[in-house]
Amino acid sequence: MAENKNPVKVKKIPQRKCVGCGENRNKNELIRVLRTPDGTVCLDFTGKKSGRGAYLCKDIKCLKKARKQGRLSRGLEVEIPETIYDALEEELLRDGNG
Ligand SMILES: [Zn+2]
Repeated sequence: MAENKNPVKVKKIPQRKCVGCGENRNKNELIRVLRTPDGTVCLDFTGKKSGRGAYLCKDIKCLKKARKQGRLSRGLEVEIPETIYDALEEELLRDGNG
């Protein structure tokens, strides 16, 4: 039998850098924090909204690091409201087991 080359299309997942740990990860493993064109900061779980994005691992450690060092606001060039951090934290704590 001839070798069967599997015709599975390799979908290349875009890589993004986490602002917490600085590691590159698949975009779908990260949470996108978005600054919309009107300057509002929100969380974009679909990754489809337009605007400037910063990325975080779904890891509370990365969030805390980013928060402490103001990396999200630096990345997005806008001040991040506390409510955004709180929402992120809530999301991460709900997702993982700590
Ligand atoms: Zn990270």
